[in-house]
Amino acid sequence: MTITAAPRFDLVIRGGTVVRADRSLRADVGVRDGRISALEAAIPVEAAGRVIDAHGLLVLPGVIDVHTHTRIATDDEPDRFFQDTRAAAFGGTTTLLAFDNPGTGISEGVAGSALAAAREWLDRTRGDAAIDVGLSAVLTAQQTDPAAELAALVDLGVASGKCFLVYDFGVDEARLAELLRASRAAGMLLQVHCEDRAMLDKGIAEQLAAGEDGPRGHARSRPPACEATGTARAIALAATADAPAYLVHVSSRAAVAAITRARAAGQPVFGETCPHYLVLDASRYERPRTDAMAAIISPPLRSLDDQAAMWDALVAGDLDLVATDHVPDRLDREKRDEGQPFPVVSNGAPGVETLLAVTWGAAPAGRMTPERMVDVLATTPARLFGMPTKGAIEVGRDADLVVFDPAARRTIRQADLHHASDFTPYEGLEVTGAIREVVAGGRSVVRDGMYLGTRGDGRYVARSLG
Ligand SMILES: [Zn+2]
Repeated sequence: MTITAAPRFDLVIRGGTVVRADRSLRADVGVRDGRISALEAAIPVEAAGRVIDAHGLLVLPGVIDVHTHTRIATDDEPDRFFQDTRAAAFGGTTTLLAFDNPGTGISEGVAGSALAAAREWLDRTRGDAAIDVGLSAVLTAQQTDPAAELAALVDLGVASGKCFLVYDFGVDEARLAELLRASRAAGMLLQVHCEDRAMLDKGIAEQLAAGEDGPRGHARSRPPACEATGTARAIALAATADAPAYLVHVSSRAAVAAITRARAAGQPVFGETCPHYLVLDASRYERPRTDAMAAIISPPLRSLDDQAAMWDALVAGDLDLVATDHVPDRLDREKRDEGQPFPVVSNGAPGVETLLAVTWGAAPAGRMTPERMVDVLATTPARLFGMPTKGAIEVGRDADLVVFDPAARRTIRQADLHHASDFTPYEGLEVTGAIREVVAGGRSVVRDGMYLGTRGDGRYVARSLG
């Protein structure tokens, strides 16, 4: 009787170059029980249950998208949350953090409590995700006492929360200051959408009075100064509270300058930008109205100078990471063109499936090393948002991996995407790099453009900054 030893590994990725934030190395990656269990120069094929041949390819950690407004399932649209998490997998994102702000499907009944909203979100997404998901709580003006709920949110693994300084659910400065103090005590990272409400209200009124009620008016109503003023204010309040602050979707040179000044003074301020600020610009608002409406996002697309500043800041480390601000709006629903003025057009655009493709693939030649790419797309997101088992290819971490061909070229087209939206702002964009295979939790979920996973594969990621 012959006894065959079980393979040492469930999966081995052989022959590739493993990219880490600190350095790249030629290594085979051994995976067992969903974790990375070996990084060795040469793992024999007999040791593997299955082998992925990665000769000539890169092995990247799965991308972590910390900024999405994915919408949870409803009776009318039961598949939209699953669909966007699956789309993320197609794009090489193996973990995403979602928000529970109004508009993401959270019920009116929990509008008064951040904790009740978070519990509802956890309930209604359980077993629905294709990849691992976590929650960042949105903290609003309508909630009765969100500062008192932060500790309980952290206990649920919701280690980050977001405030808006504009919109009807945005908070005033007194509440922001209180939340900053409370976030420090609770061990929560506070994320802030920074625009100055008074400047914005004035800007909107001016544009409408001038007859600029279309997409161009939207961009002009919230110029870089509006963002920079909100950014400086949030930074000042964070300094007073002695709390870290994380600034979402930084889009302008002026806002980066405010962040850089604070950091030079030793303040723990973190900054994120988004793919659309890296590759799109305000000329989009000069296009025919329906096309331009698709780009109504906030902050708006900026000048080419601001775009260059985003790359400079990412390269220099003045911005920490890239995330999508994904909103699954559709041109025939939320963004349908009925001639309405810009203040009532839904804000947001999809991006959950194109984070790696756009950020990697459209980077100016030679500016971002593969190591820095991995840092801003996976390693730093995992570190800042409390996910120590994710974000890097190291023994013991989750086997969330992307086998990536850096030499391939592709053109981004809505027809090839899988997200819940009906358009992509990157239609026709030519990028370098293509995904060959995506492994999440040790299992192949996408291979050569085919989805191999199962609804519910994704788990809830309870996060802790401790
Ligand atoms: Zn957002």
